[in-house]
Amino acid sequence: SQRLSHARPTELGDIFISVKTSGKFHATRLQLVLQTWYLLAREQTYFFTDKDDPAISQSTGGHLVNTNCTPSHTRQSLCCKTSVEFDAYLASKKRWMCHFDDDTYVNIPELVDLLKRYKHTEDWYLGKPSLRHPMEVNDVYNPGAKVTFWFATGSGFCVSRGLALKMMPHAGGGRLKAIGDKLRLPDDCVIGYIIEHLLKTQLTVIEGFRSHLEALWLIKSTQLKKQITLSYSKYGDKENVVNVAGFSHEEDPTRMKSVHCHLFSTFRECKKIQHA
Ligand code: UDP
Ligand code: MN
Repeated sequence: SQRLSHARPTELGDIFISVKTSGKFHATRLQLVLQTWYLLAREQTYFFTDKDDPAISQSTGGHLVNTNCTPSHTRQSLCCKTSVEFDAYLASKKRWMCHFDDDTYVNIPELVDLLKRYKHTEDWYLGKPSLRHPMEVNDVYNPGAKVTFWFATGSGFCVSRGLALKMMPHAGGGRLKAIGDKLRLPDDCVIGYIIEHLLKTQLTVIEGFRSHLEALWLIKSTQLKKQITLSYSKYGDKENVVNVAGFSHEEDPTRMKSVHCHLFSTFRECKKIQHA
């Protein structure tokens, strides 16, 4: 019955996972995703990019979407992609939309466990702020006034269906891009603006969403199983990567393969790790 199906706990099949990428990252970042966590969520994961790639399109069963957005790291281009992701999510009818950047490792079982604890019919915005303070912008609809709101970093966040339906008039059909242009904000800020400012739903901070804005090397190996996302980055000579044993640094400079094998040691690729 309707009641029973409503009470059914959320499972992986209820989640729409969208990953933003770009043609310039297909051979590097996207390959790492395809070799690791994607293998646990093939049916649920879609990649939003700016270039056709027949090989990846085929190996993902058509889950590579060319948004036709311009291939640049500009506010407009990022909002354009997120806008296409949002519309694809609405069409999917799934309980949850979870968005991730392509330099992000997603711990699929932990993600499912997290979402089980929240009702998809209620309004939920789960993620982690990039800033230690709320965002402040000029209120374009009220000159001279300021608007403040929190937003989750675009590296990883989830939105419930209940909330997404309320976002539809503001974000659906390409409107997310229009708001971004009006406010001159990047895509993750626009999402925060719509949810916190326009819809008055607060961001729920989830500690386990780890991005490269944090000191990833400080996370203890024993704590990795509890994290929902992990990432990597390099600023000049300084690397910010997870400190985990596994493949050599030459074989796995980002540590993403080693993280994956630490969590799921039975994967075929993990047998290649040489145990000292
Ligand atoms: N990205 C993109 N087009 C670009 C550059 C980046 O779509 O021209 C995507 C990239 O694939 C990633 C996200 O935007 O998913 C964030 O990019 P990146 O990690 O390079 O920058 P950050 O914001 O983390 O500094
Ligand atoms: Mn990044």
